[in-house]
Amino acid sequence: MIIQLQQGIPAELKENILRQIQEIGYKANEVITQEAHYLVAIGKKEFDIRRIGQLPGVADIHRVSEEYKLISRRWRVEPTRIDLGDGVVIGEGNFSIMAGPCSIEGEEQIERVVAHLVENNVKVMRGGVFKPRSSPYAFRGLGIDGLKTFHRICRENGIKIITEVMQVSQIEEMIDYVDVFQVGARNSQNFNLLDSLGEAQKPVLLKRGISGTLEELLQAAEYIFSNGNEKIMLCERGIRGYEKAYRNILDLNAVPVLKEKTHLPVIVDPSHGIGLRDYVDSMALAAVMAGADGVIYETHYTPEKAFSDGQQTLNFQESARLIERMRKAYALRESF
Ligand code: PEP
Ligand code: MN
Repeated sequence: MIIQLQQGIPAELKENILRQIQEIGYKANEVITQEAHYLVAIGKKEFDIRRIGQLPGVADIHRVSEEYKLISRRWRVEPTRIDLGDGVVIGEGNFSIMAGPCSIEGEEQIERVVAHLVENNVKVMRGGVFKPRSSPYAFRGLGIDGLKTFHRICRENGIKIITEVMQVSQIEEMIDYVDVFQVGARNSQNFNLLDSLGEAQKPVLLKRGISGTLEELLQAAEYIFSNGNEKIMLCERGIRGYEKAYRNILDLNAVPVLKEKTHLPVIVDPSHGIGLRDYVDSMALAAVMAGADGVIYETHYTPEKAFSDGQQTLNFQESARLIERMRKAYALRESF
């Protein structure tokens, strides 16, 4: 059960509501986000919710039977839109394109990618400075100094930054240089990290785990929300299967299903999803038609020389073509 409290509710009214919840035999969790003040009450007993709903200080009340609650569409029908500033808004009503290299490699590379994005009117650049790599001997990113350069060049050109945070201790040093924190597939159920990102209040793009179910993804998002941060987008990036012809299985089934289950924006990453440059375009277009609120993909001026994930990275020509096609596909979808 979710109880939204009136803004600025006096302490005694809140205490009264908490007492009543306890009397029914429910356990209340208090959640205060950027947007509102909630009580999430957990319990099994059937009772008439009007008993709580009529109490002074209650703005809204709903029974939500799923394990995830605050991120559920049953609670909030209105889609979440995440405002990154300067007119960049992610969520229903817009189609967001986020693109950039797998890894940030240096100043020249950042400048060239930024110029490509500006030329194609793309407002958000991706690029990892802390890289989760399968091998400890692979390139693991330029770290915080790379992020500072990334930030400076993007700010000079009106571009927003999305980059991966791998552990709690990095949040503080990164936060002033990031517009969206990415939680990678390998960290999708790192609950300590999710708790801390809830407290940090910056927008988060949460990727689905390598073998993660949608239920697990949604519950991971609930961790972030319940710690105080409503600015979450979910990302389908492919799941592990037995097929060897491509890197992962991009589960586009997830798009309409997630859109029905949650009010959060749903983004698709076709680069990691299929893992092969030649097919990224097809899967990105399929994601648009499946109803995604945005696509995030990898691009580099010379993919063959990229420090990581070159095999799935588009060159600028391919990237420009994809941007144009996705915009056309989105316009078509909107016309249905
Ligand atoms: C990435 O975005 O470069 C990345 C490592 O993604 P994932 O966590 O989905 O593998
Ligand atoms: Mn990558």
